[in-house]
Amino acid sequence: MTRRSGTDLGSPDPQQELADLSEAGLLRTLKPLDSPTGPRVMRDGRELWNFASNDYLGLATDPELAEAFIEGVRKYGAGSAASRLVCGTLPPHHLLEEALAAAKGTQAALVFSSGFATAVGSLPALAGKDDVLVLDKLCHASLIDGARLSGATIRVFPHNDTTKLARLLENIRAKQPAARVIVITESVFSMDGDLCPLTELIELKDRHGALLFLDEAHAFGVLGPRGMGLAAELGVKDRVDFQMGTFSKAAGLAGGYLATTTAWRDLLVNRARSFVYSTAPPPALAHAAMTSLERITSSDGDHRRKQLRENIAVLSAGHPSPVIPVLLGGNEAALEAAARLETRGFLVPAIRYPTVPRGTARLRISVSAAHPPDAVAALASEISPM
Ligand code: PMP
Repeated sequence: MTRRSGTDLGSPDPQQELADLSEAGLLRTLKPLDSPTGPRVMRDGRELWNFASNDYLGLATDPELAEAFIEGVRKYGAGSAASRLVCGTLPPHHLLEEALAAAKGTQAALVFSSGFATAVGSLPALAGKDDVLVLDKLCHASLIDGARLSGATIRVFPHNDTTKLARLLENIRAKQPAARVIVITESVFSMDGDLCPLTELIELKDRHGALLFLDEAHAFGVLGPRGMGLAAELGVKDRVDFQMGTFSKAAGLAGGYLATTTAWRDLLVNRARSFVYSTAPPPALAHAAMTSLERITSSDGDHRRKQLRENIAVLSAGHPSPVIPVLLGGNEAALEAAARLETRGFLVPAIRYPTVPRGTARLRISVSAAHPPDAVAALASEISPM
């Protein structure tokens, strides 16, 4: 399908594009919940178990976190009112970055208004037209868009294929010995829930004088000691040049970050356009994020991660993350399966192209520590015949 059909080229009316999407089974619509988010939600007057959110630790509706948000508003007001560089930097922005860098074990961290803004701001700040960005085929849209915006040469390696990546890096180095080369991947892939082969990737990037940019979006809070991600779990965090993450998933809030050295952080402060030219995140959000970080790194966080691992094992023994795909292939099959599960009391999204490659439409189950084990077991028996 082309973005526009031949008949409406140049037409100001988007109806034909919408009709094309609908015909291809790719039209998406916004459906509000009738309740707050949480493990149990209301939609269309029905209560459903929510396996669609990325609230892996159940913090999004946590009373202490909500209270921290309110306290932040009382202390600092509602908005930041300016970009960080102009006069929008408030105490909680600094405090959060210090706490995050300490928890991640990096020299510095920089906070953005979302994970998406982190990727599309950082990558063009780190690479330009003489550089090469090397992405895993399944990298998230934000990383792809950031790479495109940078103007660097983009190379893609098949998902988690380190043999192909090694060959690619050799070729790049043979042609461009002086280029800055950055390998970009995710710790937990957002639609497949599998892990990248991090140790091998680090060896490869070191061998070829490249840097590594690791998006820990779905691993932050979930994997590693104190929930500090896959690099921490494997004891290689000092060898990852850029650790990206987000406060929008296990941390239960919103906002993105990049943890790195002080020098790289300072460069981003000067060059990341989504940082320089965007109003700072609300200070109350940064204040609440500090509470979230405390919870994630505490024994309460450990307890939640244990519960999460147990819930994951009920659905898929040995699976390494809370993102569990059920591959169905066709768009209609995925939509029908999601609709059937909804009639059975479960909210599980159907994921289609372009979020995943064509022909790999799927259900995407997001497990949370907040799901009661019997709800997880009930979902497991629903999906086992699929
Ligand atoms: N990276 C990955 C791997 C993601 O899945 C997402 C969110 N879907 C993001 C980045 C963007 O994060 P945010 O939702 O905080 O903008």
